[in-house]
Amino acid sequence: MLAENVKEVQKNIEDACKRAGRKPEEVELIAVSKTKPVDQLLEVYDTGIRAFGENYVQELTEKIEVLPKDIRWHMIGHLQRNKVKYIVGKVALIHSVDSLRLAEEISKEAVKKNTCADILLEVNVAQEENKFGLTLENTMEEVEKIAVLPNIHIKGLMTSTPFVENPEENRKYFRQLRQLSVDINEKNIDNVCMDILSMGMTNDYIVAVEEGATMVRVGTAIFGARNYNK
Ligand SMILES: *Cc1c(COP(=O)(O)O)cnc(C)c1O
Repeated sequence: MLAENVKEVQKNIEDACKRAGRKPEEVELIAVSKTKPVDQLLEVYDTGIRAFGENYVQELTEKIEVLPKDIRWHMIGHLQRNKVKYIVGKVALIHSVDSLRLAEEISKEAVKKNTCADILLEVNVAQEENKFGLTLENTMEEVEKIAVLPNIHIKGLMTSTPFVENPEENRKYFRQLRQLSVDINEKNIDNVCMDILSMGMTNDYIVAVEEGATMVRVGTAIFGARNYNK
């Protein structure tokens, strides 16, 4: 059953790429597995998916321990500085870097572990009060400060858009994030590339792909609704 869900999402991504004149290989599907049991992750793994996204550090590290080693783990949830040490060196990409202080902590930990941490900067494009993230206005400034930190690479930008009835309402936010990444790229800042645009979730990933997403983070459409009360 989960295999069918994966296929359908992949088909939707392909179709959106066609409409936008893009190649499907440009878009990586990240299966967002927070709250889901490992047997369901394995079911999705068996379809060929190797990128999984998690929000909570403890759940993430527990799953890393027991699941196949060729999985690329993506930390997509809000990250507290005191938890950084548990994930640096273990995850492929941290999507949710929303402050210089957090980036400094990641850098420090990466130096300590003699590794390099790839990160995205989270931008609260829609300026939602209850969400974390940099603003469209201050991101450039933060990029310049974070780029000089050792053992850290800025690979692009991430946003979480509002939950809306009609995903078309979020198209403008995807465009704004893409434009910001173009603006940052044009500055040719050392140690900064803007190859990754992580945007689009179950409700709006199709629109996000049309607007240039290179990573989509899809949970519900693959695993079904989440139950947080268990
Ligand atoms: C939970 C979550 C997702 C996946 O959301 P769905 O609507 O279930 O696809 C994507 N990104 C972030 C940051 C999330 O927290």
